[in-house]
Amino acid sequence: MAGRRSGALATMDEGHMKKLTLRDIDIENKRVLMRVDFNVPFSGKGEIADDTRIRAALPSIRYVLGKGGALILISHLGRPEGKVEKKYSLACCATRLSEILGKPVGFAPDCVGKEVEERVHQMKAGEVLLLENLRFHPGEENPEKEKGFTESLAKLGDVYVNDAFGTAHRAHASTALIASFFPGKAAAGFLMEKEVAELGKLLEHPKRPFYAIIGGAKVSTKAGVMQNLLSRVDGLFIGGAMAYTFLKGRGMPIGDSLFEEKESAVAANILKEASIKKIPCRLPVDLVIADAFDRDAKKQTISVKEGVPQGWQGMGIGPKTVEEWVKELDKAATIFWNGPLSVFEMPRFAEGTFAIARHLAELKANVVVGGGDSLAAIEQLGLGKKFTHLSTGGGASLEFLEFGHLPGIDALSNK
Ligand code: AMP
Repeated sequence: MAGRRSGALATMDEGHMKKLTLRDIDIENKRVLMRVDFNVPFSGKGEIADDTRIRAALPSIRYVLGKGGALILISHLGRPEGKVEKKYSLACCATRLSEILGKPVGFAPDCVGKEVEERVHQMKAGEVLLLENLRFHPGEENPEKEKGFTESLAKLGDVYVNDAFGTAHRAHASTALIASFFPGKAAAGFLMEKEVAELGKLLEHPKRPFYAIIGGAKVSTKAGVMQNLLSRVDGLFIGGAMAYTFLKGRGMPIGDSLFEEKESAVAANILKEASIKKIPCRLPVDLVIADAFDRDAKKQTISVKEGVPQGWQGMGIGPKTVEEWVKELDKAATIFWNGPLSVFEMPRFAEGTFAIARHLAELKANVVVGGGDSLAAIEQLGLGKKFTHLSTGGGASLEFLEFGHLPGIDALSNK
């Protein structure tokens, strides 16, 4: 996000910006308008494939109900781009939340308008109502396209709570703009509070040595955070598809591997800065390569010195890289990991990602993982409970580490 500067921290209790949390606001007999992130993935059959995001909001939901508030939940789902698209309806999330809570959860077919207002006004303490997808309205993402949308939404609550850390990096109507309608009554939910506290620890006084492992598809989406992390970490490990742009810059033939030409200068700059700052920057020393981007493709392991032959492409870090990285990671007191290190979605190429995930799970260090894909790999291995913190926000956690604050947090009321 251009224009945002890193620096001041907007943590809940540290730094100079102290934000209200759920515990600070009066909830009894109040209509609590809570932004959650129910942007759940679906199976091919149209069923919720993973309800982690719904469960992540449960502490705040249960707290509000326990304190005698009437709870109005708002969320987005997918990218309907300001139009009603049935496949992005949140109705199934109301059903799932009701099953989890063991109590009825109402569902309103829109998120603003007379009907919703009437329904909200009839709500009693302890009741829950989920409103339809915010992004069915253009005003959610582009307020100038639907004047009055934010205000109509704000009308529904006496107090506002933001528990949607996963969308806190977006300055949308429901995540940031709405807070100005609740002076002194816009608070962070418990998930938001926990995310900011855990990620904040990485920015403020992390236990050292502090290492960051960055993988995933593109240099372009991670360059900012890598640059910022260079002033904070004691070592950077770069894997995944974006490593090939770095490796090519060092003169390695990368065959048909993913390559971002436009990012070569950025990659070279990151390596240069790391060397000036004397931060060891580790790239893969060997790669698992395939003759096609296919789950049944032929595979072989090559060393970086050999390079990738034409007609072949990198699919992830190789066993020698894992061995070297693991030895180094054993020394860490704090680790942040974002982005898979191999195409873990294909079983033949999952090992690079899985080997690192299994090792991180066994370490005594504080290990924080951000990003949907790395989390999916950890969940596939059933290792979720072994990590210090699994951030529910991929983009949000990266932007938080890059800038030190996010629009969705900045907008909340100060203590
Ligand atoms: P991101 O959203 O940027 O974290 O990228 C995640 C995607 O990167 C996953 O779908 C991985 O399959 C993919 N990925 C990781 N390593 C590689 C690789 N070596 N080659 C191609 N894709 C990769």
